[in-house]
Order: sequence, then structure tokens, then C-alpha cells
Amino acid sequence: TELKNIRNFSIVAHIDHGKSTLADRLIQMTGTVAERDMKQQLLDAMDIERERGITIKANSVRIEYPAKDGQTYILNLIDTPGHVDFAYEVSRSMQAVEGSLLVVDASQGVEAQTLANVYQAIEADHEIVPVLNKIDLPAAEPDRVRENIEDVIGIDATDAVEISAKTGLGIPDVLEAIVTRLPAPEGDRDAPLKAMLVDSWYDPYLGVVVMIRVIDGVIKKGDQIKMMQTGASYRLDKLAVLKPQMIDIPELGPGEIGVFTASIKQVRDTKVGDTITHDKKPCDKPLPGFKPSVPVVFCGLFPVDANDFESLRDAIEKLQLNDASFSSEMETSAALGFGFRCGFLGLLHLEVIRDRLEREYDLDLITTAPSVVYHVHMKDGTQQDLHNPADMPDLTYVDHVEEPRIKATIMVPDEYLGDVLKLCQDRRGIQLDLTYAGTRAMVVYDLPLNEVVFDFYDRLKSVTKGYASFDYQFTEYRQDNLVKMQVLVNEEPVDALSMMVHRDRAEQRGRAMCEKLKELIPRHMFKIPIQAAIGGKVIARETLSAMRKDVTAKCYGGDATRKKKLLEKQKAGKKKMRQFGKVEIPQSAFISALKMD
Ligand code: GDP
Ligand code: MG
Repeated sequence: TELKNIRNFSIVAHIDHGKSTLADRLIQMTGTVAERDMKQQLLDAMDIERERGITIKANSVRIEYPAKDGQTYILNLIDTPGHVDFAYEVSRSMQAVEGSLLVVDASQGVEAQTLANVYQAIEADHEIVPVLNKIDLPAAEPDRVRENIEDVIGIDATDAVEISAKTGLGIPDVLEAIVTRLPAPEGDRDAPLKAMLVDSWYDPYLGVVVMIRVIDGVIKKGDQIKMMQTGASYRLDKLAVLKPQMIDIPELGPGEIGVFTASIKQVRDTKVGDTITHDKKPCDKPLPGFKPSVPVVFCGLFPVDANDFESLRDAIEKLQLNDASFSSEMETSAALGFGFRCGFLGLLHLEVIRDRLEREYDLDLITTAPSVVYHVHMKDGTQQDLHNPADMPDLTYVDHVEEPRIKATIMVPDEYLGDVLKLCQDRRGIQLDLTYAGTRAMVVYDLPLNEVVFDFYDRLKSVTKGYASFDYQFTEYRQDNLVKMQVLVNEEPVDALSMMVHRDRAEQRGRAMCEKLKELIPRHMFKIPIQAAIGGKVIARETLSAMRKDVTAKCYGGDATRKKKLLEKQKAGKKKMRQFGKVEIPQSAFISALKMD
């Protein structure tokens, strides 16, 4: 295909503003998929994505469109993940295309993820076509939202296309706008091959499938190629385009997007952002800006039933086939036994993986407190990356500790602003900016990532009744007065509850933790002290008093079946308990104890 007849684009939007519905409509109206095969949210392949309404992996579709100028165009849509956890993947997919459709719900306006995603599009030098969606809704205010886009994002929205992705209204205008307003790609067909690795995934029949965007040169089936960052070399078995199912194609030239397979064993052998070239006749320089995505949030995953350890190992290995950014390492905990220390790109990523392990593999898991990676600077001048608070070295050897900080952008109706400011303040935030667009406030905070990883989203949602939107980006590692707080139940340290805290907040956190645990741990036949400590010094303490009576005592004498039932219920409940020395702690206590109110 000639370059002038190609358009590559992505769709950027806040969650629920209609990105997937618009993609479906574009696929449908161009006859890319036969009507009988059309199902909702074609590009959101994984069940969990559909359920949660989020797109986790980038995916793409090639659309043929006969335009009004009489020529047929190839439109390549790359669907980018819309979530902050996958910011690096988003930025790479943005590099693979020349333009973006900016979809904004005309009944809502610009939200935090709209901003974050459109900034990435702007950074990638995209031409941007604003699209106002959901104009079928009575609450739609296209004129107000046009202004809102101009005020908040600072791009011209005069020619924004008004559509309803639901009813199909305005979709032909979107197709024309893609052809007339977005630029064609550039590239040199005669130059050595240079292609970007945009994404990869594991297919049970084909093995690893690699999605690429060709910059220069031509790639053909059977070619011997090289990945410039990893240095690995492979022979192409299959070359195809996605429509969205795979259709074989003999070659891909500059500006084109497609997939190949090459007997690659694991997704982790393919690095998003890597440059692909020919082994024999390589291009002179790889694409700039490559960085492997690294896990930023870690937590321990332990089976509730120790016998499930092998099943957990298998399940983790299976999930890793398709997700190179999810890392794991075996871990033993004095309290929880054998499990894994796992690394994730962010909190949502963690939740998705944990959910899949529990649902698809039927495992009961204990998740320890999520923790970020701290940089621990030792007095001897060395530096350690701390992935698990339980491994924090003795304070006498530690010079200082640095933690990752983020820049968070929150958009919220002004009536909830006070609660949002309080929440950010409580989480050691430093306010950087506060502006208004109509009755919505936009507030920017510098926050420690660790204060955000556990329940920040949940708290934000609850204090704003779901009306706030949130996005963040990593900024830097910064020194602060951070210490490890341990929790002791009946004098025994429970390593799974160890956490890093700011020294000034330690007493407060310790007290809250002890009070919570006192409620969460069932009474035993003896008194149980519950303590929080920093380096051997107890900073908070509660005592769980001993149980007075047998639980069955309240079933006045006679009724034997009722008594038996109660005992059985108790036994079933025990399965979800873990033994700590002489004390049993219910699984739910771990999660609840770590939530702060
Ligand atoms: P995404 O999160 O941006 O991919 O959003 P979806 O495409 O999943 O859409 C979110 C919700 O909005 C779904 O319930 C859609 O049916 C609905 N929706 C999408 N487009 C329109 C539209 O034009 N009008 C109306 N009324 N609803 C829409
Ligand atoms: Mg979607």
C-alpha cells in the first residue's frame, strides 16, 4: 500500500466515554467484520477486561475504507490500554501511530484520564481530532464540552465531530476526518528494515505473537530478523494483519502495522519498544527511548491452604506466559509459609492478576500489604532495592531511605474538593496546583506512591461518590524519614503485616492497626497482646481479652443437631484461618487490617 493511502491512529478517552463502542462501530460500518460475527467490544478480548470495562493489552485492527475522494484507505487502529498502570505501553503504542481521536463524553466533559492520555498523544506529536460522543443523551452539552476541551487541554475543538457511538450517528464523519485530518505515515521502502515492537501476547496455538509497526524497509515471511535491544534472532514463520482475526499477508512495508510469529517461546523474550531489523542487513540505530517496563508494586501471595502451593506456582507460570511485566519469586514467610513475592506495574494490575488466580484457578489467597520499591542507602555507601518491608535491614546500618513519588491529577466537582484535599493531605501530599474549569476543580498533588497503592482509589471514590477521576505519573525517588513497623500478635512478629511508614505517622498507624486487629482476631481461651513496634520499641498496644464461654453455650442444652451444625460451621471457618504460634488469624484480617480509614 502506498503511504499516502495509510492512516494510523489510536483512540484516547477516559474510561466509559465510549472508546470501545466507537471502535466497534468503525469496524462494523466499514464491513471489516461480517455482521453475523459482530459482537460487542471486539477489541477487548479478555473476559476480565470486559467485566471491568477496561482494555489491558493494546490490540489493533486494520480497516479498509473507501473514502469520498474515490480512493481506498487502510486505517490501522491501535487500541491502547487506558489505565495509568500501563503508561509505558500506552506511550509506545502512541509512537506507532500518527494521530489520535480524542473521545470525550458530551454529557461529562474532560476527565483525569482524558488529560493523561491526550498529553501522551501530544507528546508523540499526534494530530488530534476531538470527537464528542453520546450526543444522543438528553444530558449532552456539546457546546459546553467543546469549550471545556479548549480550556482544559488547550486544543482547538471548533471542528470536533459530534457522534453517538451507540446509535451510529456521525460515524461516517469520523471516518472522513481520519482520512482528511490525520497525516499519512512517512518512511523509506528502500532503507534497511526498522520496525517497532508494539506489543506481544501468547496464543495457545501459535505461541508468542508479536505486533509491529514498520518504520522503514520491508518485512517478509521467512525473513531472519533481529531484536536490537535483546540481541535475539528469529526466523519469521507467519506474517499477518489483524482484521481483527489474523489474515496472512506476504509483506509489510513502511507505515504498516501487523503481527508475526517466529517460534518465540515466552512473551518475556519480547520487549515492548524494541527495534526489529534484518539480521543480515541491519539498520544503523535502534529507535530512541527504549526502556523495559519494570514492576513498581510488590506484594506477597500465599495460598490459604498450604497444600495449594504447587497449584499456585503452576497458575502463576501460566499467567506469566502472557504477561511479561508480572514478576514472581518464591518467598517463605515465618507466618504464612511458602508463597511468592510478586511484582506488578501498578495496583490495578495487581488486582487483575489476583482476581484471575482466584477465579480462573480456584485458589484462596492471602495477599500481603502492597509495597513500592524503596531505595535503602546503607552507611557503608551501598544501595539496596527493598521489595519487601520484611527484609528491611537493621536501622543501625541504614543511612537513609528513598521512596518513589508521583504527580497525581484529580478532577472533581467542587462540592467534594474539600474532602479530596483532606485525603491527599492525610497521605502526605504536597499540593502543586489547583485550577477550575466550570464547576470542576483540577488539583495536582505530589504524593508518595506508597500512600496511593493500597486503597487510595477506593477512598477517593467513596469521598466523592464516584465523581472524581484520577491519574498519576511517577516523578522521582526522594528521601524521607521512613521506618519499618512490625506487628506482633501474642509476642510473635507477623511478617506479612510489616510495613514501611513515615516516622511521624507511625504511632497513629500503629494504633489504628492494633485496634483493627483487636476487632478482627477472634477471641481465644487466653489473653492476646497485639503490638506495633519500630526496631524493638513498642509504639502501640491493644489486648484482646480471653474468651469467657464456649460458643455452643448459647444453644441452651438440648438441641444436639444445632450444636453439631455450629461446630461444623466453626470448622469450615477455620479453613480460612492461619495459625500464628498459638493464635489463629482469619484471612480477611490481613486485607482489612491494612486498609486505613
Ligand atoms: P470505554 O471504557 O471508553 O471503552 O467505553 P465503552 O465503549 O465501554 O462505553 C461505556 C458505556 O457507555 C457503555 O455502556 C456504552 O454502551 C455506553 N456508550 C458508548 N457510547 C455511547 C453513546 O454514544 N451513547 C450512549 N447513550 N451510550 C454510549
Ligand atoms: Mg473499553
